[in-house]
Amino acid sequence: MGTDLFAIFGNPVSHSKSPLMHNLAFKGLGYDGCYNRYRLEDGSKLKETFFALKLKGINITVPHKEHAYAACDELDPFAKKVGAVNTIIEKKGKLYGYNTDAPGFLKTISEFGNVKTVLFLGAGGTAQSTSAILRDEGYDVTILNRSAGRLEKFAQNGFTTATFETFIPETYDLVINMTSAGLEDDDLPAPEALLNTVIPPAQACVDVIYGKKTPFLKLAQSHGKPTKDGSDMLLYQGIIAFEHFTEHRYTFDAIKSYMQKAFIL
Ligand code: NDP
Repeated sequence: MGTDLFAIFGNPVSHSKSPLMHNLAFKGLGYDGCYNRYRLEDGSKLKETFFALKLKGINITVPHKEHAYAACDELDPFAKKVGAVNTIIEKKGKLYGYNTDAPGFLKTISEFGNVKTVLFLGAGGTAQSTSAILRDEGYDVTILNRSAGRLEKFAQNGFTTATFETFIPETYDLVINMTSAGLEDDDLPAPEALLNTVIPPAQACVDVIYGKKTPFLKLAQSHGKPTKDGSDMLLYQGIIAFEHFTEHRYTFDAIKSYMQKAFIL
């Protein structure tokens, strides 16, 4: 048997840390694998590209998570429930799809300890899968979004939802930026006055954006709050994907010990 080949499919994909993370773990654990990045322009070609490149597994990032879902022959029950796949492995010619973003996020949040109520700022794809897993685990999640359109699905699924205009603040243990505000701009995810009502009573604030201190995290720190960016979520989703790639041969902590070096290099 030759080297097992893996990749991340996305567009753009040049910024991705996933190749470094996975290759560090392959090397450290002595697994004969190699992980590359592939800029996939046409998401409908995901399946044929996967087989043409003779891959054993992939991660999928923006904007192809829905195409990834459609390309799978078999879906993990949670991926099926949330309609988003970010990890695919091939077994005997069939593609198996998983969502590791949400369990990675759950682990990040569970490290805070005594948390029950959570306010999500944002209602995009990431909010959808992560809100579902938090609720399954007994957290009480409220979804606040700039515009009403994306909230409909959440409301239908029984979440408390609001736009900035209809929001009546309560006390939340965690306030989490689930938007892309602050990623490539200096925007806050919600009006500052609104944030100044929900941040002070919170235990901590979290941002899913990683690798930079966003305006949201800066504001939280100005209120003296502990903060966490999206690096742990990225690391944990990668470890869980790696577990699938290597068919659960290694423990979470063993993978982590190598993969986390990607964040200090
Ligand atoms: P989507 O495009 O699906 O959703 C974007 C959301 O952000 C919408 O709710 C949108 O509101 C809101 N939004 C965008 N810009 C602003 C703004 N300026 N002010 C207020 N709201 C805004 O994005 P995703 O769910 O795919 O991704 C969200 C974030 O999560 C991204 O920053 C991404 O990088 C990050 N992420 C991090 C991961 C990690 O491992 N750390 C993994 C996956 C994602 P509206 O509906 O009004 O347009």
